[in-house]
Formats: sequence, structure tokens, C-alpha cells
Amino acid sequence: MKKYKQPNTVGRFGKFGGMYVSETLMPLLLNLDKSYKKIQKEKKFKEELNDLFKNYVGRPSSLHYAKNLSKYINGPKVYFKRDELNHTGAHKINNCLGQILLAKKMGKTRIIAETGAGQHGVATATVCALFGLPCYIYMGSKDIERQKPNVFRMKLLGATIIPVESGSKSLKDAMNEALRDWIKNVRDTFYIIGSTAGPHPYPKMVRDFQSVIGKEAREQILKAEKKLPDYLIACVGGGSNAMGLFYPFLNDKKVKIIGVEAAGRGAKTEETAATMTSGTPGILHGSYSYVLQDNDGQIKEAHSISAGLDYPGVGPEHSYLKDIKRVKYFGVTDAEALKAFQTCSKLEGIIPALEPSHALAYLIKAFKNKHKNKVVILNMCGRGDKDLFTAAKAIGFDADE
Ligand SMILES: *Cc1c(COP(=O)(O)O)cnc(C)c1O
Repeated sequence: MKKYKQPNTVGRFGKFGGMYVSETLMPLLLNLDKSYKKIQKEKKFKEELNDLFKNYVGRPSSLHYAKNLSKYINGPKVYFKRDELNHTGAHKINNCLGQILLAKKMGKTRIIAETGAGQHGVATATVCALFGLPCYIYMGSKDIERQKPNVFRMKLLGATIIPVESGSKSLKDAMNEALRDWIKNVRDTFYIIGSTAGPHPYPKMVRDFQSVIGKEAREQILKAEKKLPDYLIACVGGGSNAMGLFYPFLNDKKVKIIGVEAAGRGAKTEETAATMTSGTPGILHGSYSYVLQDNDGQIKEAHSISAGLDYPGVGPEHSYLKDIKRVKYFGVTDAEALKAFQTCSKLEGIIPALEPSHALAYLIKAFKNKHKNKVVILNMCGRGDKDLFTAAKAIGFDADE
């Protein structure tokens, strides 16, 4: 294991990250980086963000000892970091609040964002409603069709949805279009990216805003167990909820860290989103990282039952953590996640989102009858309401039975 190093001034995590963007975008990113560095240190900014975390989001989220699940696994003591209890049902709101406060301080008057499943779109539309700023959400037309409840939520919250018809008509194409919009509307627009992806300074900035998860978890576990956890586990799409939990523990060498990707129908099949198990380093959305690409370097389409993990790239910090062997990454299939989704609902009375169900599935599989007397924290980063129809269809559930 090599020692963890912070990214350099152009956002290089080892050989990953950076700013692979057109010249028109460069000044915007440099300006954003400068403003973020300045504002981040301001006491008033921290106070405002903490107040919103507490009174709007409902932080700190609790750390729940999942007794029944622990008994079922017959291995470690499992704790859930319950970020699914946040306002809007996932961790995305932590980052959106941080970025919109920054947008306000920078004097921006128009907000844009990309969304896949609609979770980041809903969180962005929410903070725009709260701060009274116009909100434009880029969304692939295929995703609009399959995520109708979230489309309706965003509209209720006052956002304008811009359908994207290019490419595979899903998340990666929405992100391309949002980047194009930003270039055209440089002066008044702020682009809120939803994960630890994209060009510098986004991966670092999003990680910082999400690391409230790990900071709280650290205090809570020290209180509950009088020691640090032995393991941390989180699901990885672009990587923001995982970085949020992991970051405050990276220098604690004894804490083992596991990231779980969506392997779809299998990491070796074409229908997968397991970027780090099946991908190779390449460039996507302005950053050098592991990506799913063909022999010509064309980005492939990802597949996962969980829309939030259905992304052919991953944040550069994760690629770096994999390379220095600080974090281990594993893939979990649709079927395994779906089973864990049901097990957790029945045993703990918590219906998880399909994304953290991947982390749960790995935990159940790899820790069964093992690692007794160890302590695990799993990031329960989203609730399952949004996934009920997808899950019901996949399970073959008939409400009339
Ligand atoms: C968006 C989302 C994810 C994937 O994004 P990360 O940046 O990898 O965290 C995971 N879980 C939930 C509940 C989400 O909404």
C-alpha cells in the first residue's frame, strides 16, 4: 500500500484526474477552483452550510446497529450510516447545497445540472427552489421515459427539463450537453455536477462536501464502539457517497476499505457497469480515469439494474485509490443486489435503494460466517422508494396476490 497523497493543483490524483477540456472551458474551471479555495475557508460559508445540513437536510444522519442483519450474516457487527434519511432520500443533497452556496457567492444566477436516474436532478431542483434560482436539468430522453416520477418531482420543484437525444440518450450524453451549455453561458451559469467525476476541481470539491458522511460516522462509531471500524463498505457509481464515507478514514491504515461496483449481468459480459473491474484507463467528461471503452477508445454503454450506478466511468480518486491499493473494488450483479434489497427490507425494516443494495450484497456474500468480532460501517446512501417499480418488475411481484 502506497501512502495517500492529495491531488496536485490541476487535480491529479496520481496519474488520474486532470482537466481534459476545450480551451473555452479552461478559464471557467480555473475560476471555479480559485473561488472554491477562497470560499471554503470562510467562516460564514461553513456556518451557512452547517445550518442547512442540520435544519434542512436533517443531519447528522444516524448510525444504526443492524442487529438482525448482523445475526443473519453470523460475522461482524454491521452498522448502517443512514444517509437515506436525508431530505430527498439520498446523499446527493449534501453536495448540491455546498455547490449552490458557492454559486451564490460567485454571483451566478442560473443553474444547470445533468441527471441519469433523476436523483441528482431532484436534489438540484430542490436547492434551486430553496434559493430561488432558475434550474435547467439535462436528461437523456431514454431516462426521461424510464424515470417518470422523478421527472414529475423536478417539474413540481420548478425545474426545466431539457431532453437529450444524442448518443445513448442517457447520463453520459446528458453530461456532454450540460458541458456544452456551460461553454455557451459562461457568465451567469453555474454547473452543479452530481458525483466525484468530471474535470478538476469537481472530483475534489464534491468529495469535500460529501465527506460530512465520514466525519459524522467516525465520531459516532468512536462513541458506540470506542474504536475505529475494521471495515468500510460503500457502493460506487461516480463515487461520491463512497468518497464521502472513505475520505476521513484514508490515513487510518487499520481501517480496510471496500468499494462495490455494479456488475450488471456479470463483470465479463457486455452488460455491466463495473468500470474498475472490467474497464481500462481513458478520458471521459474531462478526466482521466478507468472507463468502459472499446478497442478504438469509444465509450461503451453501461448497464445496471440501478440507474444510479449505470455510468461507464468512475471518479479519478477511486482509480487512484485502486492503484495505490488503499481501497479494494468488487463487482456485484443485478440479481445479487436484488436479493440483498429484499433481505435488508425483511430483516431490518429498511427498504434500501438498489445502489447500496450492491454494497449489502457484497457484505452478505463475503462476510458470511467470517470476521467475527469485527465492526463494519456500510453507507446506506439512499432509500428504495424510487426503485419500487423496477424491483417489483424484476422480482415478478404481483400486488394482487
Ligand atoms: C446517485 C446515487 C448513487 C451513485 O452515485 P455516487 O456518486 O457513486 O454516490 C448511489 N446511490 C444513490 C442512492 C444515488 O442516488
